[in-house]
Amino acid sequence: MLCLGIESTAHTFGVAIMRDKTELSSASDTFTTKEGGMNPPVVARHHIELKEKLLGKALSDAKVNLEDIDLISFSKGPGLAPCLHVGKNFAAELAKKAKCPLIGVNHICAHLEIGRMITGTKDPVFVFVSGANTQIIAHEGGRYRVFGETLSIGLGNALDKFGRIAGLGFPAGPKIEQLAREGKLVELPYVVKGMDVDFAGIITKAELLLKKGAKVEDLCFSLQETCFAMLAEVTERAVAHCDKEEVILIGGVAANKRFCEMLDSMCRDRGCKFHPVPLKYCGDNPVMIAWQGMLEHNYNRREEDLGTVEINPRWRIDELNAEWY
Ligand code: AMP
Ligand code: MG
Repeated sequence: MLCLGIESTAHTFGVAIMRDKTELSSASDTFTTKEGGMNPPVVARHHIELKEKLLGKALSDAKVNLEDIDLISFSKGPGLAPCLHVGKNFAAELAKKAKCPLIGVNHICAHLEIGRMITGTKDPVFVFVSGANTQIIAHEGGRYRVFGETLSIGLGNALDKFGRIAGLGFPAGPKIEQLAREGKLVELPYVVKGMDVDFAGIITKAELLLKKGAKVEDLCFSLQETCFAMLAEVTERAVAHCDKEEVILIGGVAANKRFCEMLDSMCRDRGCKFHPVPLKYCGDNPVMIAWQGMLEHNYNRREEDLGTVEINPRWRIDELNAEWY
């Protein structure tokens, strides 16, 4: 089966083509700024301007024509509505042209499933830490279940918020990781409530300390140490509770080496195995959307009605039946 996947939930617009498990091409572009964050209508315009060019590149790199495509898959949610609309409209238009079925998939589920496919893990605890989301997830009783999550903003957005305040530009995560190498520990609130975590107050405290003259390097280091330790603690408890033997880390924040190191060390102590996901598949990418589309379509032939295709900006991972798992 030849599947074309379209990602457009937030900062990244991308088109990928897969033939079964083989990636034939992946063309994407990520909205960035030197200062300030993401304004959804501005990001949507970025996607509209680049969609045809990225489609052309994906098709030519894969050496296929649109008419050869058997299935088109797009991110239905969760995400920023203006961005989701661009992907949905483009996907519907292409499905009509290619005369093939269209399937809208859950973006978080796609992150989890590409992680499982790429690492070859069977039934891991998923540490999903992206811009907008932070959830510790495992598959139990036929569903993905959320064992712990952020009570406020996702860790990526929290780091980006600090980056905005400190003038680091968007996305701030990579710059924070770099600056943290020169930093020392200052105390920040450590907020674990039951199995949940909360980053909002930590960022407020870091902002206050910055205004009082704390070194940005020290705050970067301390933000990493504090937030990653909180997540490692909750992950450890999820592993124990679910009796799982594998942990995978996905989402854009998975690019962080220090975070991987902390999770790896926790897993070694517990006798389970940590699997980092290659960078290319950690953050938002269209390959995961193509893969998820095929998984679901091969399982139950589910498809969208082209006349009434919708987006679902608040679609939670625990609302869907993961029957193909
Ligand atoms: P996603 O939404 O999954 O594409 O992830 C994007 C988020 O990952 C943004 O908030 C980035 O700041 C964050 N991010 C990217 N690279 C790093 C890194 N090296 N360390 C921490 N966060 C990162
Ligand atoms: Mg994502």
